[in-house]
Amino acid sequence: MSKAIRIEKNGGPEVLQLVDVQVGDPGPGEIRIRHKAVGLNYIDVYQRDGLYPLPMPLQLGMEAAGIVEAVGAGVTHLQVGDRAAYASQPPGSYCELRVMPAKCVCKLPDAIGFETGAAMMLKGLTAQYLLKKTLPVGGLHAGDFVLFHAAAGGVGLIACQWAKALGYRLIGTAGSDAKCRLALEHGAAFAINYSTGDFEARVKEITGGKGVKVVYDSVGKDTFDKSLNCISPFGLMACFGNASGAPAPISPNVLAARGCLYLTRQTLFMHIATREATQVMADDLFAMVASGNIKIRIDQRYPLEQVQQAHRDLEARKTTGCTILTL
Ligand code: NDP
Repeated sequence: MSKAIRIEKNGGPEVLQLVDVQVGDPGPGEIRIRHKAVGLNYIDVYQRDGLYPLPMPLQLGMEAAGIVEAVGAGVTHLQVGDRAAYASQPPGSYCELRVMPAKCVCKLPDAIGFETGAAMMLKGLTAQYLLKKTLPVGGLHAGDFVLFHAAAGGVGLIACQWAKALGYRLIGTAGSDAKCRLALEHGAAFAINYSTGDFEARVKEITGGKGVKVVYDSVGKDTFDKSLNCISPFGLMACFGNASGAPAPISPNVLAARGCLYLTRQTLFMHIATREATQVMADDLFAMVASGNIKIRIDQRYPLEQVQQAHRDLEARKTTGCTILTL
């Protein structure tokens, strides 16, 4: 048996319910993992409130770290007793114990603790594919400006550090002066409080009117239009989230008028569709974290039973860095 968090219907944080579930043995290609810590992500909110519709009842959660307890037929990269961590579909990580596909589960290096592993997989692999694989034509080079919204959040603080390591000048936006300071402390070259200031005007000022080569936008509705105005000709608008709601549809002609821009909507799960791709990206992330080049900042910890409060705080923009659920 395992404690788990389930929803029977979409709604606010109150639909998150603690239940006991039966956990069986892994089938072919699966493992059973006993979690040590679970990661909280904004995608959990979209799945809870129905922006991303899924069949009910639904056990939420896409990220965790723990110890492999049983291995199904055909799984060769994991053994019983291995320390492991994952960002993975299907949802279901809000629990003590689960059976899941082994494909996206990676061995966790000894240098990385369970809480860090649980906090960093989904957010760190996202920062990895954005900054290393979601690039404007001609790529990014040291000194290039990029604009990264919600820079003091879970994905954001990892991206600030990774961008600095790559030599990019990351302009981060955040919803308060304190959050802006945090982004700067983690490697952002500039930070803009978009709750009080006009980020478009400030980006133009910082870049001498030229704009940035790429905008990484997970805020969505509230930032989409102005973000397009921040991009230099032939640059890239990389959407990857909807914290303020999904952006409205646009005509391709808008992209022509703003300077022959490219527009993409990225998802991590397309990048980690195979075991091989997942491991390559995870090895890159593990190396950055184990070497100390990227520090995973866990600013909030909630017992699994207090997951409703964790969701309330995340949606109310009260959190910074990563959040984990403890067991
Ligand atoms: P964060 O810790 O970044 O939390 C979300 C942040 O978004 C808030 O802290 C807040 O920061 C900002 N925000 C702006 N407007 C709103 C609003 N109206 N309501 C709530 N928050 C708002 O979350 P994560 O690190 O988990 O994820 C960051 C984003 O990246 C999310 O949108 C998530 O869905 C997306 N994502 C996408 C992935 C993909 O592959 N497509 C994978 C992983 C994450 P502030 O107050 O500073 O504005």
